[in-house]
Amino acid sequence: MLRSLLTAVLCVSIGGLLVTAVKSDDISARAKKLHFSSIVVDTHDDTTQRFLDGNFDIGARHTDGSIDIPRMREGGLDAIFFSIWIPSKITGTDAVSRALTQIEAVRAQVRTHAKDLVLATTVAEVRAAQKEGKIAALMGVEGGHMINSDLDILRKFAGLGVRYMTLTHSGNDEWADSSTDTPAHNGLTDFGKDVVREMNRLGVMVDISHVSDKTFYDALEVSKAPMIASHSSCRALCDAPRNMTDQMMKDLAAKGGVIQINYHVGFLSQEFRDAEKANPDINKAIGAEVQKRCGDNEGCQLIEGDRITREYVAQGKLPRVDFAKIIEHIDHAVKVAGIEHVGLGSDFDGANMPYGMEDATKLPKITNALLKKGYSEGDVKKILGENTLRVVADVERLSRELSRQSKK
Ligand SMILES: [Zn+2]
Repeated sequence: MLRSLLTAVLCVSIGGLLVTAVKSDDISARAKKLHFSSIVVDTHDDTTQRFLDGNFDIGARHTDGSIDIPRMREGGLDAIFFSIWIPSKITGTDAVSRALTQIEAVRAQVRTHAKDLVLATTVAEVRAAQKEGKIAALMGVEGGHMINSDLDILRKFAGLGVRYMTLTHSGNDEWADSSTDTPAHNGLTDFGKDVVREMNRLGVMVDISHVSDKTFYDALEVSKAPMIASHSSCRALCDAPRNMTDQMMKDLAAKGGVIQINYHVGFLSQEFRDAEKANPDINKAIGAEVQKRCGDNEGCQLIEGDRITREYVAQGKLPRVDFAKIIEHIDHAVKVAGIEHVGLGSDFDGANMPYGMEDATKLPKITNALLKKGYSEGDVKKILGENTLRVVADVERLSRELSRQSKK
């Protein structure tokens, strides 16, 4: 999730990438076979915002947005983390109750579409879902402000099936600094460190997307479990503060963690980012148009933001970013952090997608491109989902150990 368009840090890529989009929809038979026999996991999707609008049916194929059951099936997406997100500015009990509403909205979708979706909270459940031909639905809370500085609320979220929490969103919370706010806590406060310890005990993955570099290093020091960056990209390729530096990726990997690459054009392309900085009025105009079309409907804002950005690209006012940028970031992260430490965290339905990766149906293109680049089938499987599942399994194991210890 990007936050609102008015404050979003959009990177765009100026020209130059138009040509590479051509013909990239041709998927080799080998890639198809590999893709559809692998477990494909996406650690970050904002489709939950659409659930809040009673008219959205995830069982129907849509022409807007990126995620619904027919398109997940067509793209071979086996496990999806639905993001529970509210803006950082909403705090206190209001934040808690709105988070609970979203958790229930995800659970209701699973109940309504029980033939296609199943709620999963463990690796075993994800693998079982794939065997049964169902899509595993998981949940991540995007922003520590939603626990209202109360470990009981964190426990409640975990009990309802939440399996990761992003320590902050785009603003600081009461106990951790964000990468896109003025530092207030010098990273994690003492209570913030307790939150991380309790997440370890509960088996809730620590997600460091969005947090400041200092918060990342504080969490890395405290967490006994490997951590994830559920939807971040590489700062060396696109200098967004919520992307990871090469050193951060190496340090995350050294403790067994995984960076799941974000497909948002503003985090993939330096050219896009530079263009946006050079033309701040465009972002303002997009924000105003989104407001006009959607009012306060967050789900609508996210979908329309992507659509309107595309209109500006089509008019030549913003650069066009091709899906090949996703592959560049994956490849860079693999070179820096290692093949065991990279996964996929699209930000579908919450960000601006590159050309050629408009929705979940396009996912086999990632498999195709990685094979073309010379990646082995085993390595592609790791990126598609096995690395993420390894972290989930490690976190589950540690949770059991810590729970046993605390009973002694
Ligand atoms: Zn986000």
